[in-house]
Amino acid sequence: MTNQKSPLLTETESPKAKLQTAIDAVIKAMQLCEQVQAEMVPTDAIQKTDRSPVTVADFGSQALICKAIGDASPDDVIVAEESAQALKENASLLERVTDYVNPFFKDAPPSAETVCEWIDRGSGEVGPNFWTLDPIDGTKGFLRRDQYAIALAHIVDGTVQLGVLGCPNLLSGLNDEDLERGCLFVAIRGEGTRLYTKTGNFIEQVHVSEAVHRFAESFESTHGDSDAHSSIANALGITESPVRMDSQAKYGIVSRGEASLYIRLPNPKYPDYRECIWDHAAGLIVVEEAGGTVTDANGIPLNFLTGKRMHENRGVVATNGKLHQQVLMAVSSQQSAVG
Ligand code: AMP
Ligand code: MG
Repeated sequence: MTNQKSPLLTETESPKAKLQTAIDAVIKAMQLCEQVQAEMVPTDAIQKTDRSPVTVADFGSQALICKAIGDASPDDVIVAEESAQALKENASLLERVTDYVNPFFKDAPPSAETVCEWIDRGSGEVGPNFWTLDPIDGTKGFLRRDQYAIALAHIVDGTVQLGVLGCPNLLSGLNDEDLERGCLFVAIRGEGTRLYTKTGNFIEQVHVSEAVHRFAESFESTHGDSDAHSSIANALGITESPVRMDSQAKYGIVSRGEASLYIRLPNPKYPDYRECIWDHAAGLIVVEEAGGTVTDANGIPLNFLTGKRMHENRGVVATNGKLHQQVLMAVSSQQSAVG
């Protein structure tokens, strides 16, 4: 008898196979990013039309991950940040990207045209079942050689089911310089969040912290409202200086208990800014599965179904869970005080 609720999955379509594909792809993308970072020349970064930077590594990372997902499940939809358009107009940049992608396919190195096709596999639309990818989250951090992340999430009916967050420059313990640099967070809905080395060796299951010690915010002051963040932290009795960090690595440190919350209130200069799905989907599940809570600044769940941007949400608050209501109340009092 056929069970209609759970159709038989072929081996390559099973959730476990998807997970392995995602992990392997993010590990390769981390290797590519590190290679580019080690050899970067000024022309490896260009400005997009919104004036944000994009690099050879962003394109290369997206090519590798979209190629891997496309090979494993050709019908899977991917909503990724980059498009190959800028590369098609810049032959030397495209050549650089192709040079960095080629070593991953020694038997059949792809042409520049094929690399563009792989990148554009990421031009899918938000729907009932899709992946979202930020091939380099925190490109500004990547350019400064600070934190950045490769963030891949699988979303089904609006719920993030799987998150793979590669952080090539994040120590596996924030304050221990002796530990290996680079790590990988993997979260599966209902199964917790696991920390791995950047080569995929299991380190530990991670959990948020009970303690209220410090908060995390963006390194880039224009991406949030640091004055408001400080007054909220004061209201909560937090005295330690914030951890200022680029990318979804901030979700990673909340999931490991190294910060009790991550606050991202809209910058007053950009009141109409709406967050992109790929900037939060993987991070959200990493924190939730480690025992934490993530909502927008008004306590509304993040809605990943309104398009590439979360039009119904404002800002983001990620906490250890216990602290969440208190933070939302502090956000609300802070906003009525200034508003
Ligand atoms: P972070 O490194 O956490 O500051 O996040 C980097 C992301 O911030 C980029 O991927 C951008 O999509 C996003 N971003 C750019 N401008 C803004 C802004 N005005 N407010 C909030 N986020 C922004
Ligand atoms: Mg990003």
